[in-house]
Amino acid sequence: MKSFRKELWFDVPTRRAFINITPQVEACIRQSGIKEGLVLCNAMHITASVFINDDESGLHHDYDVWLEKLAPHEPVSQYRHNVGEDNADAHMKRQLMGREVVVALTEGKLDFGTWEQIFYGEFDGRRRKRVLVKIIGE
Ligand code: ZN
Repeated sequence: MKSFRKELWFDVPTRRAFINITPQVEACIRQSGIKEGLVLCNAMHITASVFINDDESGLHHDYDVWLEKLAPHEPVSQYRHNVGEDNADAHMKRQLMGREVVVALTEGKLDFGTWEQIFYGEFDGRRRKRVLVKIIGE
């Protein structure tokens, strides 16, 4: 069995954003030389997510509105976590959108369902953060 590991770095200039990272994950697969196996992709921060869904801007707007309803950023004083920081909402948004995805790797390609793409969800940006890509197989 072969294995491959790479960290993808992001420095999102806004507090929140959704970024399609499928091309970077596909580049990792090419670099790994692995054709059959599993691809794990996870945020390495507790205020960011990796998830799979549609690359459709209306949906991303809807996610942002939905997440703000469930865990509004303001007022920051509503959260006990926000002593010396202001990112309690980001921890909750990450919990809702998830930590990682696992995708089957078949014949050198991500074995996606229709419209599936991999996204990095940033909820407390404006600093360097990373995503782990781990590929195992043959
Ligand atoms: Zn925090």
